[in-house]
Amino acid sequence: AAANPDRSVAFYSQDMNQGMQERMRIESGLRQALGNGELILYYQPKFEIGSDRIVGAEALVRWVHPTRGIVPPGEFIPLAETTGLIVQVGEWVLEQACAQAAIWQRAGVPPFRLAVNVSAREFTASLPERVADTLARYQLDPSWLELEITESTLMHDFERVTGIMDHINTLGVALSLDDFGTGYSSLSYLKRFPIDTLKIDRSFTTGIPADGSDCAIAGTIISMARQLGLRVIAEGVETVEQLDFLREAGCDEVQGYLYSKPLPPVDFERGLRENWLL
Ligand code: C2E
Ligand code: CA
Ligand code: CA
Ligand code: CA
Repeated sequence: AAANPDRSVAFYSQDMNQGMQERMRIESGLRQALGNGELILYYQPKFEIGSDRIVGAEALVRWVHPTRGIVPPGEFIPLAETTGLIVQVGEWVLEQACAQAAIWQRAGVPPFRLAVNVSAREFTASLPERVADTLARYQLDPSWLELEITESTLMHDFERVTGIMDHINTLGVALSLDDFGTGYSSLSYLKRFPIDTLKIDRSFTTGIPADGSDCAIAGTIISMARQLGLRVIAEGVETVEQLDFLREAGCDEVQGYLYSKPLPPVDFERGLRENWLL
């Protein structure tokens, strides 16, 4: 490296420039998308295993790009998280999800929880007030709303995070712990935070029933959740074999392609009318 330092510096800075330019391009595109109404929410239903009744749905954001078509969140959410734009995206998602739930509430749809994903950067002291304000503006019953947070959210200042969670809890809005088992934090937080539901990550569901480790992990999460008095849901359920295993293990709820992919509102409403509310 010492032989030709200038060249390596030039190489790396050019490389960095390209990455940075790409990021700035996506960021300014996303900023415009927010203004132009190019974001939409898809909805994926969640079902109670015993009854097969719909008990919830997850709101999942998509970017309807003018030239690229529908861009999945994996291609812009991580960047939005590093740039901080996730705060504006999250505000739009909460607003849109509550507007949709209020329409269903007013139409007399039997209530189910509509879950919104909340990134660690959005989990600030102003979040509970924004949630309360949004519920009030739409006259939405808080039992319609759930927030999905990840373990990374819990790894910040304990007092602060507990305060925010308690406040959300007081509003009557449910909290679930997403991607459970993929993070690093200690299990002791489970008894200290007001969490309602554990969500088993798809990376574990996928290995059921062939992979012994995945079965053991999923089974352990389920029995721990039950002993702690928490509800437990498995995401990414694609096969009847996975469903059978989860039912046997005592899992409460499932979500996945076996039942339905995330759907645009019109198709989700058709599912409600024709299948899921029966
Ligand atoms: P996630 O929260 O873990 O959401 C579950 C992902 O698994 C979704 O991908 C969903 O479409 C997918 N999925 C559900 N069931 C199945 C299945 O049976 N098989 C397979 N192969 N996939 C399944 P999606 O919609 O692409 O979202 C990816 C991630 O983007 C989400 O992971 C979440 O972390 C993030 N995300 C999506 N919407 C939002 C949002 O509004 N706000 C924030 N902060 N993050 C979001
Ligand atoms: Ca989620
Ligand atoms: Ca997640
Ligand atoms: Ca996941």
